[in-house]
Amino acid sequence: MQLKPTPLFTPENPNKSTKLAKGVTSGVLNWNDLQYPQFYEYYRTLLGNFWTPFSINMHDDKKQWLSTSISDKEKEAFLNIIGLLAILDSVQPNFLSLVKEYLTDSAAQAVITIIEQQEVVHNHSYSYVLSSIEKRDVQNRAFEMARTHKEIYERNKLVIDVYEDFRANPTIETLCRALAASIVLEGINFYSAFAFFYNMARNQKLLKTSTMISYINKDELIHSKFVALLLQTILKENPEVNEDGKFNEYVNELFKKSVELETAWSEYALEGIEGIDLPEMKDYIKYRANKCLSLIGMPNLYEGVSENSMPWIRVFSDENINLGKTDFFEQHSRQYTKVTDKNKFDEL
Ligand code: ZN
Ligand code: ZN
Repeated sequence: MQLKPTPLFTPENPNKSTKLAKGVTSGVLNWNDLQYPQFYEYYRTLLGNFWTPFSINMHDDKKQWLSTSISDKEKEAFLNIIGLLAILDSVQPNFLSLVKEYLTDSAAQAVITIIEQQEVVHNHSYSYVLSSIEKRDVQNRAFEMARTHKEIYERNKLVIDVYEDFRANPTIETLCRALAASIVLEGINFYSAFAFFYNMARNQKLLKTSTMISYINKDELIHSKFVALLLQTILKENPEVNEDGKFNEYVNELFKKSVELETAWSEYALEGIEGIDLPEMKDYIKYRANKCLSLIGMPNLYEGVSENSMPWIRVFSDENINLGKTDFFEQHSRQYTKVTDKNKFDEL
């Protein structure tokens, strides 16, 4: 049965929603009287992390980008990865706004509104970085790659197809599938890209861009946890969706495919990048998949990857972080500062 969009205002219904999906609500949001009070915690956390790219001065990165310290290979990977991230953060807010239409809980809808805004800021930060370091035609080329480059396009198709199925046929099943795909996007798809920037940062390259990426990373962590909460709640409200474990089976298949695509993508984009070890990267992707599955209470899909195979990432992205905004680079700068002749640190 198709879901119906939730009316904007229904005065005969209570303000406190009866269910997250397929329930009733008046449409009036009262944070002090929620069916699921956890949503208020997410709202507070998301607001507490507010940032914009304007606060990051790109001068140092520009100087480095125009010098010989960034190799052609690194520049190409950088543009590729920005193109890829731009797709994720362009599609995600529009997808979330679709989800919002079918929820019957005003607090969940409000949290999604904040997340949508953050995705827009993330997408803007990519244009901001590019416009700080490159000419207009190169900036545009990175964004064009998002739709014309086969490797980038195919890497994102899996998730987008599941989103489109939900849009064309919104049912409780397609909604749950789309939320699972959203966890893939928020919790796996971003991470090999993040790893590229953190690897640059640990070699003292493009630190301002990486500072920005660490802010995005922190937002995405919270987004994936929130989407996981939505999914778990809807599954609890609608146990028939996972009758005989059929939904879990679907999720495992989706995650397997996404790990394959992510692995192929990182082989394509990160091959030959100094400091990136591809077998380690593969294990890291599997590790991320296990982490995301645990968010929705599912067992590990991959054995032997219980530890992060690239522990240096933790300096930039604390995966267990919950609240507050930290500048990892200021806080940890002494720990990872490495000055060599090669990166011409003295010139900066
Ligand atoms: Zn984002
Ligand atoms: Zn997100």
